[in-house]
Amino acid sequence: MTEGRIHTPEQAREAMRAGSFAVVVGTAITAPGEITRRFAGLLSMEREDKAQNRHFLAIDLGGTNTKTGIVSREGELLHTAVVPTPAGGGRQVLIDHLKSVARQWMLTARQKGITPSALGIATAGWVDFYTGRVVYATENLPGWTGTPIAAELEEATGLPVAVENDANALALAERQFGVGRTVRDFVCLTLGTGVGGGCVIGGGLNRGPHFFANALGHITLVPDGHPCTCGKRGCLEAYANASALLRFAGGRFKDAEEVITAAQAGDAAASEAIRALAGHLAAGVVSIIQILDPEMIILSGGIVENNPLLLQHFQNGLKSGVPVWKHRRIQVQVSRLGYFSGVLGAVGAVLEKIERDAVTRFQFTMQSPTSLIPGPGKEVAIDESPRKKM
Ligand SMILES: [Zn+2]
Repeated sequence: MTEGRIHTPEQAREAMRAGSFAVVVGTAITAPGEITRRFAGLLSMEREDKAQNRHFLAIDLGGTNTKTGIVSREGELLHTAVVPTPAGGGRQVLIDHLKSVARQWMLTARQKGITPSALGIATAGWVDFYTGRVVYATENLPGWTGTPIAAELEEATGLPVAVENDANALALAERQFGVGRTVRDFVCLTLGTGVGGGCVIGGGLNRGPHFFANALGHITLVPDGHPCTCGKRGCLEAYANASALLRFAGGRFKDAEEVITAAQAGDAAASEAIRALAGHLAAGVVSIIQILDPEMIILSGGIVENNPLLLQHFQNGLKSGVPVWKHRRIQVQVSRLGYFSGVLGAVGAVLEKIERDAVTRFQFTMQSPTSLIPGPGKEVAIDESPRKKM
């Protein structure tokens, strides 16, 4: 049996997994003074973090462009730049590119009298947030799979580095700086060449144990439907991206913006194309709502900006498709983060890393050196005759 120095449910679970028959939890759950002290400690750390007015370097590595900047703790874009991404060059070229961009910003920051306290990176591909390594990337970024981005950039800059998938990073940006600040459960959908997603559930980003969660663009909408970029058929993306809008409009327009402008001028085919896209999007989002029951859907990307017709049809689609609609309070919002939203997302990843590290540090300081939590290879206190005692 393990007794004492158990401060979190995780520690209790560890003790059980390490072989304890039972775990006795004391002041962590029985003493209000102790509980208050723990809350107050965490909150004062959060206050200190805000008062320090930190600055961060942020890089949003896209397939075409790399957007970068120096950003304040409050999400203010102090300096920004956009440079082309050498996407086809392979792993070393991309890493050298990131290092060169980061070093350039460190120089600029010094000239401006700013000391950045961390670097955030948002990238295409699935990322292990906890190690900052690319778990898997498609051939859009050849050789990117397996790249230890955080380790490479920490060595090059001497800064703590946080790395996150770009669509997940957008959700983190909405949580820190955007319309998602006011709710604990929301779903982000970005409509562009592709359809990306990010789900924040109970205040935290859902990543999945393999970091492949939130592939909202690739849920099946139409079995054996239109071919998708992922190799499957009938994905939501194939019915809600920019090329779907052009397809629905009968190939008469050269880009999505032209369709939107024509619809606003009263063109019937353009309006019908927007209605068709909004209907498919709503059908996909109804399924997501059935699973997650969110409070807010946040849409972003060129197709939804300045497109009230799409929003109207989308909301109508949700109202008629979501069961028990009137008992829910689901807001539909358009992102207000703008062109550098990915840069803000990289900062969102940094802030999450700082938050997690602070909590871990705090929990560590709450443990005494003689803690009974068994570490790897340590002996475990097991009560040999539990039944007699219980
Ligand atoms: Zn797909």
